[in-house]
Amino acid sequence: MRNIRAKKGLEIECKGWEQEAVLRMLYNNLDPEVAEHPETLVVYGGIGRAARNWESFDAIVETLRNLEKDETLLIQSGKPVAVFKTHDEAPRVLLANSVLVPNWANWEHFHELDKKGLMMYGQMTAGSWIYIGSQGIVQGTYETFGELANQHFGGQLNGTVTLTAGLGGMGGAQPLAVTMNGGVVIGVDVDESRIDKRIETRYTDVKTHDLDEALRMAEEARQAGTPLSIGLVGNAVDTHKAILDKGFKIDIITDQTSAHDPLNGYIPQGYSLEEAKALRDADPANYVKLAKASMAKHVEYMLEFQKNGAVAFDYGNNIRQVAFDEGVSDAFNFPGFVPAYIRPLFCEGKGPFRFVALSGDPKDIARADEEMRKLFPDNEKLLRWLDLAEEKIAFQGLPARIAWLGYGERVKMGLALNRLVRDGEISAPIVIGRDHLDSGSVASPNRETEAMQDGSDAVGDWAVLNALVNTAAGGSWISFHHGGGVGMGYSLHAGMVVVADGTENAERRLERVLTTDPGMGVVRHADAGYDIAVKVAVERGVHIPMITG
Ligand code: NAD
Repeated sequence: MRNIRAKKGLEIECKGWEQEAVLRMLYNNLDPEVAEHPETLVVYGGIGRAARNWESFDAIVETLRNLEKDETLLIQSGKPVAVFKTHDEAPRVLLANSVLVPNWANWEHFHELDKKGLMMYGQMTAGSWIYIGSQGIVQGTYETFGELANQHFGGQLNGTVTLTAGLGGMGGAQPLAVTMNGGVVIGVDVDESRIDKRIETRYTDVKTHDLDEALRMAEEARQAGTPLSIGLVGNAVDTHKAILDKGFKIDIITDQTSAHDPLNGYIPQGYSLEEAKALRDADPANYVKLAKASMAKHVEYMLEFQKNGAVAFDYGNNIRQVAFDEGVSDAFNFPGFVPAYIRPLFCEGKGPFRFVALSGDPKDIARADEEMRKLFPDNEKLLRWLDLAEEKIAFQGLPARIAWLGYGERVKMGLALNRLVRDGEISAPIVIGRDHLDSGSVASPNRETEAMQDGSDAVGDWAVLNALVNTAAGGSWISFHHGGGVGMGYSLHAGMVVVADGTENAERRLERVLTTDPGMGVVRHADAGYDIAVKVAVERGVHIPMITG
């Protein structure tokens, strides 16, 4: 069995730090501290992989070791397929993951190709090599629950109980994000090892197999107004029904099982993990049928909690769509989290800004955090986040941080990091990137672009333009994906990573990419008619010919 570890220290095995950065981030994606199932190259999100197979992985590593600073490596769904001479301000790697021609863009066709070894599922940051463990999603989840608290509970979640399921790579952020906002959360997962992993990383406080015990602890914490996260082992369909039958009051209901992938991501009711695996192998079609039927029930229970007064929202796993297709006609009665809580931030080009210390030294992140506090002293939400993140988040693999920054802010922070590397205040280059819960790089009608004001939810041009402009601007590795988050047929999205190695070359590229990337968020939302985006474009000088002139 392979055991890939995040590589730390100042000695490099590639011909330059930029290539080394790619290599280290690939290793990091597969570090057992970071990845959910590293032995099968699965990083997170069902079957989101970092490379197509171990042979491809080895070839990628070898190619990166020999890659010149003016060459570009092409990756097709996790397999290295070409190296071309380009130039030293062009990306070192370009990736395309799971992109299918629309008429074939479904799981059935994808699985056929996957079986033949012709494709892999790149999810979002798995196949674009910028996954940083659950911390990456904690910030987005923290923002979501924070905004939900503002809208429904006077700014804090103290005295509320959230019920959710799925404590995997992404979903594992939910318990921490809820307690960071003061609330109580019961997180159900059918796989006990997933809960154990959240307890190890301090994202979840306690674990139990006993529903009554979970409800008793939740009620006590609700009454006391103290935060508490409880990992409950069970199948969500069973636990949710039992909680409804007991009449226990749930204040907030959501879900992050991997419902986007009915074959690999969701365990049907009545099946143990082992039984599910056996059925998946023996009769995949029947498995999918049972999983979908369970999801339909799951959504019906979520709707019932909503009817009983809970705030309900979909957390980007496409479970409403599956239930709807299974005949639950009111499945879309609860909104997606983006239109409900995140869109106003997207209009300002706000979104994930993540950075990783290639040295492996946590002190580098502490120095970067300090710089961020200095640069944005009035951003209270950001300062609170940094305090909480430093206190509560254990690094997984290479030390990393994520914060949400807007148009203008990302370039400011990126250039500051490059200066700190140049001046030796940070000991080795820093990788700067983002995930795909983002303002200007994603077309995903059931998630990031749900219910757009002008009805342009399914327009994929924006995601393509994002990848193209970031390539032109000189990102270090740029990717284009299909099917991340919500599954095949439901999304197109682009990734961006750029390396701050302290050089002037990096400075020019950072300045361009950290402007074009969030700029696309402002442009996309201004074009759709959002006033905030138009205002930001005018005030901050984003040139949009038919809007700002
Ligand atoms: P994951 O595959 O690592 O985890 C899913 C978890 O759900 C697993 O631990 C599994 O045991 C559990 N599960 C499956 N069926 C269950 C059932 N019936 N009852 C209880 N638990 C069950 O996936 P992840 O990375 O945590 O992502 C979860 C979902 O969230 C995916 O659909 C993903 O696409 C979506 N997602 C959302 C966002 C966001 O911003 N909200 C971001 C990324 C991913």
